[in-house]
Amino acid sequence: MKKETALVVFSGGQDSTTCLFWAKKNFSKVCALSFIYGQKHVKEVELARAIAQKAGVDFDVMDVSFIGSLGKNSLTDTSIEMDQVKPADSVPNTFVPGRNLFFLSIAAVYARERGIRHLVTGVSQTDFSGYPDCRDNFIKSLNVTLNLAMEEQFVIHTPLMWIDKADTWALADELGVFDIIRNETLTCYNGIPGDGCGHCPACKLRREGLEKYLARKNNLNSAE
Ligand code: ZN
Repeated sequence: MKKETALVVFSGGQDSTTCLFWAKKNFSKVCALSFIYGQKHVKEVELARAIAQKAGVDFDVMDVSFIGSLGKNSLTDTSIEMDQVKPADSVPNTFVPGRNLFFLSIAAVYARERGIRHLVTGVSQTDFSGYPDCRDNFIKSLNVTLNLAMEEQFVIHTPLMWIDKADTWALADELGVFDIIRNETLTCYNGIPGDGCGHCPACKLRREGLEKYLARKNNLNSAE
Protein backbone atom coordinates (compact mmCIF):
# COMPACT_ATOMS: atom_id res chain seq x y z
CA MET A 1 0.00 0.00 0.00
CA LYS A 2 1.30 3.41 -0.95
CA LYS A 3 1.69 5.78 1.98
CA GLU A 4 -0.07 8.47 0.06
CA THR A 5 -3.53 9.93 -0.36
CA ALA A 6 -5.74 9.33 -3.38
CA LEU A 7 -8.68 11.43 -4.52
CA VAL A 8 -11.44 9.43 -6.21
CA VAL A 9 -13.83 11.08 -8.65
CA PHE A 10 -16.90 9.54 -7.15
CA SER A 11 -20.49 9.34 -8.40
CA GLY A 12 -21.81 6.49 -6.26
CA GLY A 13 -22.21 4.28 -9.34
CA GLN A 14 -20.86 0.76 -9.79
CA ASP A 15 -17.59 1.82 -11.43
CA SER A 16 -16.52 4.68 -9.19
CA THR A 17 -17.57 2.79 -6.04
CA THR A 18 -15.42 -0.17 -7.09
CA CYS A 19 -12.60 2.35 -7.64
CA LEU A 20 -13.19 3.84 -4.19
CA PHE A 21 -12.59 0.47 -2.55
CA TRP A 22 -9.69 -0.25 -4.91
CA ALA A 23 -8.13 3.02 -3.73
CA LYS A 24 -8.73 2.08 -0.09
CA LYS A 25 -6.72 -1.06 -0.70
CA ASN A 26 -3.88 0.73 -2.49
CA PHE A 27 -3.50 4.03 -0.63
CA SER A 28 -3.17 4.90 3.03
CA LYS A 29 -5.83 7.59 2.82
CA VAL A 30 -8.70 8.12 0.40
CA CYS A 31 -10.92 11.11 -0.31
CA ALA A 32 -13.99 11.09 -2.54
CA LEU A 33 -15.22 14.02 -4.61
CA SER A 34 -18.70 14.10 -6.14
CA PHE A 35 -20.14 16.56 -8.60
CA ILE A 36 -23.54 18.12 -9.07
CA TYR A 37 -23.61 18.75 -12.81
CA GLY A 38 -27.31 19.25 -13.43
CA GLN A 39 -28.03 15.53 -13.57
CA LYS A 40 -31.72 14.64 -13.33
CA HIS A 41 -31.09 12.38 -10.39
CA VAL A 42 -29.41 14.56 -7.82
CA LYS A 43 -30.11 11.93 -5.19
CA GLU A 44 -27.11 10.05 -6.58
CA VAL A 45 -25.00 12.53 -4.61
CA GLU A 46 -26.73 11.53 -1.38
CA LEU A 47 -26.22 7.85 -2.17
CA ALA A 48 -22.57 8.63 -2.86
CA ARG A 49 -22.29 10.41 0.48
CA ALA A 50 -23.77 7.38 2.29
CA ILE A 51 -21.37 4.96 0.58
CA ALA A 52 -18.38 7.19 1.35
CA GLN A 53 -19.44 7.32 4.98
CA LYS A 54 -19.72 3.54 5.10
CA ALA A 55 -16.29 3.22 3.47
CA GLY A 56 -14.88 5.63 6.04
CA VAL A 57 -13.49 8.10 3.51
CA ASP A 58 -13.67 11.89 3.42
CA PHE A 59 -16.41 13.13 1.12
CA ASP A 60 -16.93 16.43 -0.61
CA VAL A 61 -19.27 17.78 -3.27
CA MET A 62 -18.66 20.41 -5.94
CA ASP A 63 -21.50 22.14 -7.70
CA VAL A 64 -20.64 22.39 -11.40
CA SER A 65 -24.20 22.65 -12.69
CA PHE A 66 -23.07 24.88 -15.55
CA ILE A 67 -21.80 21.74 -17.34
CA GLY A 68 -25.35 20.51 -17.89
CA SER A 69 -26.46 23.77 -19.48
CA LEU A 70 -23.38 24.15 -21.69
CA GLY A 71 -24.00 21.12 -23.87
CA LYS A 72 -27.29 19.44 -24.72
CA ASN A 73 -27.66 15.87 -23.43
CA SER A 74 -30.39 13.60 -22.15
CA LEU A 75 -28.88 13.12 -18.68
CA THR A 76 -29.42 16.75 -17.73
CA ASP A 77 -32.24 17.80 -20.07
CA THR A 78 -35.61 16.17 -19.35
CA SER A 79 -37.00 17.25 -22.72
CA ILE A 80 -34.61 14.97 -24.62
CA GLU A 81 -35.53 11.33 -24.96
CA MET A 82 -32.61 9.08 -24.04
CA ASP A 83 -30.84 7.15 -26.83
CA GLN A 84 -31.21 3.45 -26.11
CA VAL A 85 -28.42 2.44 -28.46
CA LYS A 86 -25.39 4.26 -29.77
CA PRO A 87 -26.21 5.99 -33.08
CA ALA A 88 -23.93 4.76 -35.90
CA ASP A 89 -22.53 8.17 -36.77
CA SER A 90 -22.34 10.01 -33.44
CA VAL A 91 -22.09 9.71 -29.67
CA PRO A 92 -25.28 8.76 -27.77
CA ASN A 93 -27.20 11.71 -26.30
CA THR A 94 -26.46 10.42 -22.80
CA PHE A 95 -22.96 11.76 -23.41
CA VAL A 96 -22.36 14.89 -21.31
CA PRO A 97 -19.80 16.85 -23.35
CA GLY A 98 -16.74 17.78 -21.34
CA ARG A 99 -17.86 15.97 -18.19
CA ASN A 100 -14.72 13.99 -17.50
CA LEU A 101 -12.54 16.88 -18.69
CA PHE A 102 -14.18 19.23 -16.17
CA PHE A 103 -14.40 16.66 -13.36
CA LEU A 104 -10.77 15.61 -13.56
CA SER A 105 -9.50 19.17 -14.03
CA ILE A 106 -11.46 20.37 -11.00
CA ALA A 107 -10.40 17.27 -9.03
CA ALA A 108 -6.75 18.04 -9.85
CA VAL A 109 -7.02 21.62 -8.57
CA TYR A 110 -8.85 20.35 -5.48
CA ALA A 111 -6.18 17.69 -4.94
CA ARG A 112 -3.32 20.15 -5.43
CA GLU A 113 -4.72 22.39 -2.69
CA ARG A 114 -4.55 19.43 -0.34
CA GLY A 115 -1.17 18.08 -1.36
CA ILE A 116 -2.70 15.06 -3.11
CA ARG A 117 -1.21 13.87 -6.40
CA HIS A 118 -3.04 10.60 -7.05
CA LEU A 119 -6.36 10.87 -8.84
CA VAL A 120 -8.61 7.86 -9.45
CA THR A 121 -11.39 7.61 -12.03
CA GLY A 122 -13.63 4.72 -13.02
CA VAL A 123 -13.58 5.28 -16.78
CA SER A 124 -13.26 2.25 -19.03
CA GLN A 125 -12.32 2.02 -22.67
CA THR A 126 -13.71 -1.52 -22.85
CA ASP A 127 -17.30 -0.47 -22.12
CA PHE A 128 -16.90 3.09 -23.25
CA SER A 129 -20.38 3.29 -24.76
CA GLY A 130 -19.14 5.68 -27.41
CA TYR A 131 -17.95 8.30 -24.89
CA PRO A 132 -14.64 9.69 -26.16
CA ASP A 133 -13.63 10.99 -22.71
CA CYS A 134 -13.55 7.45 -21.28
CA ARG A 135 -10.70 6.39 -23.53
CA ASP A 136 -7.15 5.78 -22.43
CA ASN A 137 -5.61 8.27 -24.87
CA PHE A 138 -7.81 11.06 -23.52
CA ILE A 139 -6.87 10.29 -19.90
CA LYS A 140 -3.14 10.10 -20.73
CA SER A 141 -3.33 13.34 -22.67
CA LEU A 142 -5.21 15.09 -19.85
CA ASN A 143 -2.69 13.78 -17.31
CA VAL A 144 0.11 15.48 -19.26
CA THR A 145 -1.94 18.65 -19.66
CA LEU A 146 -2.77 18.88 -15.95
CA ASN A 147 0.87 18.39 -15.02
CA LEU A 148 1.93 21.11 -17.45
CA ALA A 149 -0.90 23.43 -16.39
CA MET A 150 -0.01 23.31 -12.71
CA GLU A 151 3.63 22.22 -12.71
CA GLU A 152 2.67 19.10 -10.77
CA GLN A 153 3.23 15.36 -11.02
CA PHE A 154 -0.32 14.08 -10.91
CA VAL A 155 -0.93 10.41 -11.61
CA ILE A 156 -4.38 9.54 -12.91
CA HIS A 157 -5.23 5.94 -12.02
CA THR A 158 -7.82 4.08 -14.09
CA PRO A 159 -8.23 0.60 -12.53
CA LEU A 160 -11.12 -0.26 -14.88
CA MET A 161 -9.67 1.01 -18.16
CA TRP A 162 -9.05 -2.38 -19.76
CA ILE A 163 -11.60 -4.57 -18.00
CA ASP A 164 -15.24 -5.14 -18.88
CA LYS A 165 -18.30 -5.01 -16.63
CA ALA A 166 -18.02 -8.71 -15.71
CA ASP A 167 -14.45 -8.18 -14.53
CA THR A 168 -15.52 -5.05 -12.66
CA TRP A 169 -17.94 -7.27 -10.70
CA ALA A 170 -15.11 -9.74 -10.16
CA LEU A 171 -12.93 -6.93 -8.81
CA ALA A 172 -15.69 -5.84 -6.41
CA ASP A 173 -15.97 -9.41 -5.17
CA GLU A 174 -12.20 -9.65 -4.77
CA LEU A 175 -12.24 -6.43 -2.74
CA GLY A 176 -14.99 -7.89 -0.53
CA VAL A 177 -17.60 -5.30 -1.49
CA PHE A 178 -19.79 -7.20 -3.96
CA ASP A 179 -22.98 -6.70 -1.90
CA ILE A 180 -22.38 -2.99 -1.31
CA ILE A 181 -21.85 -2.47 -5.04
CA ARG A 182 -24.84 -4.59 -5.99
CA ASN A 183 -27.33 -3.10 -3.52
CA GLU A 184 -26.24 0.43 -2.74
CA THR A 185 -24.78 1.95 -5.89
CA LEU A 186 -26.73 3.84 -8.52
CA THR A 187 -25.88 3.27 -12.17
CA CYS A 188 -29.38 3.46 -13.66
CA TYR A 189 -30.18 6.42 -15.94
CA ASN A 190 -33.68 6.39 -14.43
CA GLY A 191 -32.36 6.96 -10.93
CA ILE A 192 -33.20 3.60 -9.35
CA PRO A 193 -30.44 2.22 -7.08
CA GLY A 194 -29.24 -1.39 -6.96
CA ASP A 195 -30.42 -3.48 -9.89
CA GLY A 196 -32.12 -0.34 -11.29
CA CYS A 197 -34.97 -0.05 -13.80
CA GLY A 198 -33.55 -2.96 -15.79
CA HIS A 199 -34.12 -1.51 -19.25
CA CYS A 200 -32.05 1.66 -19.70
CA PRO A 201 -28.64 1.28 -21.44
CA ALA A 202 -26.72 1.62 -18.14
CA CYS A 203 -28.84 -1.07 -16.45
CA LYS A 204 -28.46 -3.40 -19.45
CA LEU A 205 -24.68 -3.07 -19.44
CA ARG A 206 -24.52 -3.55 -15.68
CA ARG A 207 -26.86 -6.58 -15.71
CA GLU A 208 -25.13 -8.30 -18.63
CA GLY A 209 -21.82 -7.94 -16.81
CA LEU A 210 -23.31 -9.26 -13.59
CA GLU A 211 -24.86 -12.28 -15.31
CA LYS A 212 -21.63 -13.05 -17.11
CA TYR A 213 -19.65 -12.81 -13.88
CA LEU A 214 -22.11 -14.90 -11.83
CA ALA A 215 -22.21 -17.60 -14.54
CA ARG A 216 -18.42 -17.74 -14.57
CA LYS A 217 -18.30 -17.95 -10.78
CA ASN A 218 -20.92 -20.73 -10.70
CA ASN A 219 -18.98 -22.69 -13.31
CA LEU A 220 -15.83 -22.36 -11.23
CA ASN A 221 -17.65 -23.43 -8.07
CA SER A 222 -19.25 -26.47 -9.69
CA ALA A 223 -15.91 -27.50 -11.23
CA GLU A 224 -14.26 -27.63 -7.80
ZN1 ZN B 1 -31.98 1.78 -15.54
